[in-house]
Amino acid sequence: MTVLEKGNITIHTENIFPIIKKSLYSAHEIFLRELVSNAVDAIEKLKMVAFAGEYDGDTDNPKITITVDKDKKTLSIGDNGIGMTAEEVKKYINQVAFSSAEEFVQKYQGGADQPIIGHFGLGFYSSFIVAKTVEIDTLSYKEGAQAVHWICDGSPEFELTDSNRTEQGTTITLTLQDEEIEYLESARIRQLVKTYCDFMPVPIEFEEEVINRQKAPWRQSPSELTEEDYLDFYRYLYPFQDEPLLWVHLKTDYPFDINGILYFPKLKPDVDVTQGNIKLFCNQVFVSDHCEDIVPKFLMPMRGIIDSPDIPLNVSRSALQVDRKVRKIADFIAKKVADRLKGLYKEEPAKYVQCWQDLGTFVKFGYINDEKFKKHVEDLMIYRTTAKLGGSSEDEPSVQVETEGGDAWQDVSVKGGLVYDGQSYTTLDEYLERNQKQHENRVYYCTDAATQATYVELHQSQGLEVLYLDSFIDTHFIGYLERDRSEVKFSRVDSELDENLVSQDKDTEIVDPKTNQTRSEQIKALFEQALNNPKLTIRTEALKSDDPAGTPPAMVLLPEALRRLRDMTALLQQEKADFPEEHVLVVNTAHPMIQNLAALSQGSIVGVEGASPSAELTNLICHHVYDLALMSQKGFDAEGMKQFVTRSSQVLTQLTDKAK
Ligand code: ADP
Repeated sequence: MTVLEKGNITIHTENIFPIIKKSLYSAHEIFLRELVSNAVDAIEKLKMVAFAGEYDGDTDNPKITITVDKDKKTLSIGDNGIGMTAEEVKKYINQVAFSSAEEFVQKYQGGADQPIIGHFGLGFYSSFIVAKTVEIDTLSYKEGAQAVHWICDGSPEFELTDSNRTEQGTTITLTLQDEEIEYLESARIRQLVKTYCDFMPVPIEFEEEVINRQKAPWRQSPSELTEEDYLDFYRYLYPFQDEPLLWVHLKTDYPFDINGILYFPKLKPDVDVTQGNIKLFCNQVFVSDHCEDIVPKFLMPMRGIIDSPDIPLNVSRSALQVDRKVRKIADFIAKKVADRLKGLYKEEPAKYVQCWQDLGTFVKFGYINDEKFKKHVEDLMIYRTTAKLGGSSEDEPSVQVETEGGDAWQDVSVKGGLVYDGQSYTTLDEYLERNQKQHENRVYYCTDAATQATYVELHQSQGLEVLYLDSFIDTHFIGYLERDRSEVKFSRVDSELDENLVSQDKDTEIVDPKTNQTRSEQIKALFEQALNNPKLTIRTEALKSDDPAGTPPAMVLLPEALRRLRDMTALLQQEKADFPEEHVLVVNTAHPMIQNLAALSQGSIVGVEGASPSAELTNLICHHVYDLALMSQKGFDAEGMKQFVTRSSQVLTQLTDKAK
């Protein structure tokens, strides 16, 4: 054996290996990725050389082989790639590999608090994280090349000798340090290959079996892939999860190279929008489970993979966030996602609506956070509505639809809208256009179909259309919509009574000749006295209806501005808003029960000592009416419920007494 050269690697940074080892304390395993990547590169290079006509040997059977020898504690990674001559080993290993490791360490130390994504780019020298000695046995593709053997124990000293290797290619053999022998375990190696090398485009053989998938679906053309292929890939990436709603295949090489498949998952209400689930690859090599700094924030809940050699990986996170190319990539991703939504909206409206419950939150989040995305999606925003619409065709005839309660709709079904599963969806513009005559630029909305049911029904019965804005982001979103569309005002169904809902006819008011008060004034005074709550504002209105007994006797209103302020504060503090003590009680003077109550109270003064039995009953009923109004807004707490039940039985007792 001829010793070709013994020497020292030129060293600039002392003790580089302890530094690497320490900085990568949790990521020793990445050495395998780096070495297998180098092997893939060597194979690709050989293909390029053959393509250039400088090599006419076989390139059709590329292969990487991993072998372990437990007795010797060695792990080898072999390839049949380009190989290296002695000169190349000296240049690429002693100089290039070493200086790239050095550079890595310098960068790493610069931003030690911010780990570099995937610890990428350390390269060949990462083998010293786990090995006490590293050997290279290599034969170059070049004609007449002499095989060489390089050995180094991590110190700057190395030895380069001739080798009797006859197969072209390179084998890197690591003799593992005692604390790193886990990398001799079959299961550990298989797991690492699956994580990092599964999609590398060369077969990796281990224990006489190819253990990587090789084919990266995101590198294929979308036309080659079926729906089932996309779903299979999703199941592979995220086993045991609900099927995704839809996906976007990213594919471009100009002005940057990016490939990927992003999926819209079904969103759980408690989705953590700060935690990313998108995997980052670089040339089919797995880099990281987190893409937080590359994908726009609002797309964080998406899943899938992004593969781009143009994302700088060996820089700190803060540098990445301000990198221009990365910003452009983020914009590109957002645009592609918007395009996909646009396509779906136009071509498969039924599916669009079906996905909207989950996608809507996404889209609104993006609308709020990203001006460019907003521009892309503003025409795609749809809202579930109480109106029964005819469907997407413009020519659809206007239809009169009966509501469940049997009330006829007043000319709601005009045109447009999307219908899915019996539910109609509309755009804001369609809504405004439809309702222009009745309430120009005013949108009635409901945030909770259950607790606001009375209010929604009241609006519906008078032919007023209500939109459901019931996702957790909507409170926030409405604010943004109003800022963009300053002419439009949003009012929750329980914030104010539309003039269409109340009778304006004050002339018919009966005036009591004794007190000179109108009936409404009497009723107001009656409730004020009975409830005796300075925080509560009492108003009277006559609700319009063909059947006054069917309307609520009273309603609680929460003025829009005040309520929103509370909602926003609650949102910021991540808690549910308390029911505001300051609210309005509207007593419906058209309701027969309220009219009876007024009659009953005539001449009696409530709450005064020695009051008449009817005064006591009036008082109880006032409370009861208020409770009923509150009940359709919020649940009672324990004390409230106890009082309500007690009072109910008192009222019923008194009524039955009277009826005897
Ligand atoms: P990088 O791969 O980023 O260039 P490395 O430190 O991983 O840096 O490797 C340095 C150089 O050593 C490579 O550029 C390549 O020329 C050479 N090299 C490493 N591994 C192999 C291999 N398996 N076959 C041929 N050349 C290799």
